[in-house]
Order: sequence, then structure tokens, then C-alpha cells
Amino acid sequence: MAVFSRCSRAATAVKSPNAAAVAAFSHVIRPLFHSFSSSTLDPETDLNRNKPAGLGTLKREPKGRNVQWVFLGCPGVGKGTYASRLSNLVGVPHIATGDLVRDELASSGSLSSQLKEIVNQGKLVSDEIIIDLLSKRLEKGEAKGESGFILDGFPRTVRQAEILEGVTDIDLVINLKLREEALLAKCLGRRICSECGGNYNLASIDIKAENGRPGMHMSSLPPPPECASKLITRPDDTEEVVKNRLRIYQSTTRPVEDFYRSRGKLLEFDLPGGISESWLKLLHALNLEDHGNKQSAAA
Ligand code: AMP
Repeated sequence: MAVFSRCSRAATAVKSPNAAAVAAFSHVIRPLFHSFSSSTLDPETDLNRNKPAGLGTLKREPKGRNVQWVFLGCPGVGKGTYASRLSNLVGVPHIATGDLVRDELASSGSLSSQLKEIVNQGKLVSDEIIIDLLSKRLEKGEAKGESGFILDGFPRTVRQAEILEGVTDIDLVINLKLREEALLAKCLGRRICSECGGNYNLASIDIKAENGRPGMHMSSLPPPPECASKLITRPDDTEEVVKNRLRIYQSTTRPVEDFYRSRGKLLEFDLPGGISESWLKLLHALNLEDHGNKQSAAA
């Protein structure tokens, strides 16, 4: 009950709480988190002190706890790419709320038409809807024995962060940052394979050194031949909509960075370039190693 009442308090502290949605989230998420309470963290690996621990100490040992990480960052920064790679490495599911929304859009469910207009304008879906979708995803995962996660795209409002904080103690929030000049181009260059769901990027970015700032190169991420003819563009990756999403990030999601910064959970990571320049540096920042996949940074 303690977790639920904490969660409810967080929700009532903000505007228009929907107690039913929060209760549903708490109901699903509480059993998932119960056995991984923060008190089981080894002080040596306590990420609250902003010292990310290595895979060896975090993954299911010594006390049976899987990682609970969050990825923050502007649209186009590459959250999905890095979260998905890390999820393979660490062995926890990568849960992207944007994917949950797109799955719902693709279904014939009653929510679909309501969501379409919101998403295609680059606006945020209500906290209640997103928490409901996430709860259902966690519930399914729990039934399959999943524990731990890397969240991508959630939380996106301080209210979502408060609710999440009310039901679990997130270990680490990785705030990916990329030069603003690259963000729009990366969104416009994004392509998805309609068959396998693979993410690619046709944009190759060269930013010249200027006014003492170093230049930056980001290679494109071309699809393999079997995906090349099946690429689609997200309807919300148009210039107008991406600019709106970037504005909303600044006004509504940027404060989530402060929320976690003030709790000592935020790891700032400036992407130095594309995957080949960034992957190993990100692993280093996380005290992780990718033994079996040395080549992947260049992929
Ligand atoms: P993404 O793939 O993360 O860019 O998300 C695509 C769209 O899904 C966003 O522009 C929002 O409309 C919606 N969405 C995803 N996650 C959230 C969230 N945590 N809160 C509100 N809306 C979200």
C-alpha cells in the first residue's frame, strides 16, 4: 500500500490526476518492482550517486536485480538506437512508449483515431493514456518473466516522472545530447523497415568547425539490402511536425531532466558523432563492455 499511496500523492500534486490510470499503473508496476526495491542496491553500485555501475554488478547479481534505466533526449537524438543496443547487451527489454503508441495506432482499437491526430501533430498523448499503454506492456512482460527495463520516451512530463518515481526507484537516467543542427536532419533522414521494424538513417551530417566549436561528422545508417525496398517514413517526421516536437521537448520534457538531476540520477552524455564515434564512449561512461560485439560500433 505504501507504494500506491506514494504514487497517488505524486499524482494528486499535479493537475487533473486520473486516479484510475495511476492505480492501474501502480497495480502492474508494483509487483514488478517490489522485489527490486532500492534497498537491495549494493551501496557500491548505487547510481544515485551518479557513479554508473558496471554490467557485472548490475545484471541479476548479487541480489537478483535487473537494471531500470531511462533514456531522455530530444527527438532525433538516437534514444531508440542506443536503448535498443544496450537492451541487447544488458538483457532487459527496451520499452519505447512511442512504439506502444504506434502499435495502438496500427490497431483498430477505439483509441486509434483519437491518437492519430495528436501524434501526427507532434503533440504529447495524455499522461493517462500513456501510463495505461505502458502498464499493459509491463503486465505482458511480467507474465513472460521479464524484469527490469530500459525505458525510451517515458517519462516525458514531470507528472509522468513523479508517478514513475512513486512506484519505483529508477537507477539511472541517461540524457543523450546532440548538437541542435543535427536533430532535425536526423529526424528527416529516419527510415523504418516496414517488415522487420529496423531503424535506419539516410542523413549524413557534416558540421563545420566554427567559432572555436569543433566540427562533427555523423555517417548515415543505411539499411541492409533486404530492407532497402521496404523503408517507410514516420508520418510525424515531417519538418513542421519535428519542429513542433522539438518545441514541446523544450517546454515540457526539459524539466524532466531537472527532476532527475536534482535527485542525482542524471548521466549527461554528449554524443560526439554517429554510432561509430559514440557507442564505445557510451559504454565507457556506463562502465560496460561489449566483448562479443566489438564490430558493432561501426555498424
Ligand atoms: P517517439 O517515438 O518517442 O518520438 O513518440 C512518438 C509520439 O508518441 C510522440 O510524439 C507522442 O505523441 C507519443 N508519446 C510517446 N511517448 C509519450 C509519452 N511518454 N508521453 C506522451 N506522449 C508520448
